[in-house]
Amino acid sequence: KTMWPRSQYSFIMKPMEASMRLKNKTALITGGNSGIGLATAKLFVAEGAKVIITGRNKETLEAAAKELGPNALAVAADATDIAATEAAIKQGAEKFGKLDIVFANAGISGGTPLGSATLEVFEKVISTNLTGVFFTVQSALPYLNDNASIILNGSVISVLGIPGYSAYGAAKAGVRAMARIMASELSPRGIRVNVVAPGAIRTPIWGAAIATPEAEKAFEKRIGLSTPLGRIGEPDHISKTVLFLASGDAAHIQGQEIFVDGGAVASP
Ligand code: NDP
Repeated sequence: KTMWPRSQYSFIMKPMEASMRLKNKTALITGGNSGIGLATAKLFVAEGAKVIITGRNKETLEAAAKELGPNALAVAADATDIAATEAAIKQGAEKFGKLDIVFANAGISGGTPLGSATLEVFEKVISTNLTGVFFTVQSALPYLNDNASIILNGSVISVLGIPGYSAYGAAKAGVRAMARIMASELSPRGIRVNVVAPGAIRTPIWGAAIATPEAEKAFEKRIGLSTPLGRIGEPDHISKTVLFLASGDAAHIQGQEIFVDGGAVASP
């Protein structure tokens, strides 16, 4: 005899089952060894997915893989190296099966004022944040299941005139344009392509700005003042939006960009 009448028992069990939103799904997350990518990898594993994470830094990749457990595979691959990206995706698909989700997230900031920007830095930002995203998606195509979800990481800097970010803003605006075009090209296979566009999020990308507790406090204050919700964002603000876009809950959202920025873009 069960302790609970059947109806009550299933009522209690349902929320637990429903929370495994990515059961039997395989996801590729570029830049999955740090910040937003790592937070997303953790959330995806918790939701039942198998994840393949990439990045350049072998040490942080290994640490991330350890933390994520047996449902994760970490492969060192530079997003600007098409052959390395292809090889990482192939290795991941052989281990975990075809891909249902791609989060093209790897990126660098490379902010430099107009007067002192060099061609080298400009090209590095474009090749990582724009060209790398394009070829990550292209390399994943042969391994994608129909109805897969692709999420590209954009930025509020694609629409806000923040000094010093010409290359970065151009790359991220390009990401938005690419997402719409990719969405049209891939719609016949039911594959969705959308952009998550973060405002300032507390991750290592900010380098010296958050390197010490004092610097971090000053940074928090500065971002808080320029953000209607009055705070810096956290990696999970983004990972939860990526989860939504990856899941069936977003089944009819195609070619869109969601700003997760505490109101920064919406404010005058
Ligand atoms: P992090 O610096 O914490 O993470 C960046 C990730 O990208 C790392 O995992 C890094 O790994 C990887 N990466 C960088 N260059 C390459 C490359 N050439 N090949 C492969 N992997 C690479 O920063 P975030 O988590 O903040 O950044 C993630 C994304 O979010 C970026 O696209 C960024 O532009 C975007 N974003 C972030 C915002 C923020 O305020 N934090 C705001 C708006 C957008 P490794 O070093 O090992 O290569």
